[in-house]
Amino acid sequence: MRRSGFVLGALRVTLQVGLAAGADPEVLHMGFAVLTRDTLADGATLEIELAAMRAYCPTCACEFEPAQVETVCNECPRCHCFTSVVIQGKGIAFGRLEVTGPVPQAGG
Ligand SMILES: [Zn+2]
Repeated sequence: MRRSGFVLGALRVTLQVGLAAGADPEVLHMGFAVLTRDTLADGATLEIELAAMRAYCPTCACEFEPAQVETVCNECPRCHCFTSVVIQGKGIAFGRLEVTGPVPQAGG
């Protein structure tokens, strides 16, 4: 963001990636480098925090952490049914953004 000869830029971007999101951290790093080239985030560090999985069993109304990263059928540890749904750990969420400056813009 350029304002009066000063420039702001992203230093570090943190993503929270669910264990069941099916996202390969290496691929995310490569995609981040490509997508941020020549933007304010060019050269910024991408940090990936893995978010644990949580599932909810509607049969016995309990929440639990599945033993296996299984997105469809997780056995409830209490009632042993397979009707649970994953309520956390399937997506990718924006975590934090650390920015520089403002610092004087080189040549401007
Ligand atoms: Zn249950």
